[in-house]
Amino acid sequence: MKSTILLLSLLLPLAVFAQGTALSQAEKNALAYMREEEKLARDVYDSMFRKWDVNPFGNIRQSERVHMERMKNLLDTYGLADPVTANKDLAGKFSDPVLQKYYDELIRLGTLSLADALKAGARIEELDIADLEERMALTNHPDIIAQFNYLKMGSENHLRAFTRRLRTNGIIYVPVILTKKKFDEIIAGDNH
Ligand code: MN
Ligand code: MN
Repeated sequence: MKSTILLLSLLLPLAVFAQGTALSQAEKNALAYMREEEKLARDVYDSMFRKWDVNPFGNIRQSERVHMERMKNLLDTYGLADPVTANKDLAGKFSDPVLQKYYDELIRLGTLSLADALKAGARIEELDIADLEERMALTNHPDIIAQFNYLKMGSENHLRAFTRRLRTNGIIYVPVILTKKKFDEIIAGDNH
């Protein structure tokens, strides 16, 4: 028993060391970007929940908080600067101009009607899935891939939740970012 603990205590720092080295610039950018993209989801859903007071936004925004936390942990692991902290985690404020533009546009859209807000939600989840897949292809670090997969699974659940709610209201959501084939596979799937 003692020797097992000794062995673990010797190997653990090595494992952390191996995970914590040699990120390419693309991988570093991917972590910072995904950290802010999860914030985009949280901030839009916070705002939509205040405006429309319906459940998908209330539940899902909590999940986005967890996703943000997971990205923060990876940034910390690799000693990278956090773009969210840099903006004092102000709601609706982003370092990345693309995400800032998305936020402004989605808030505008989501304020028009509840249906538009749900569509904005589905759009964010589509974006999240596409961006995660693109960035997953840029890394072979198992810890990063595992977290990206976890986030993607969440996004697929959220996409199903938003489109289900739209369907209940008689609206069929048409994908804007993902291909129809990919979208249909996700809607038919279930990874709860
Ligand atoms: Mn998410
Ligand atoms: Mn989501």
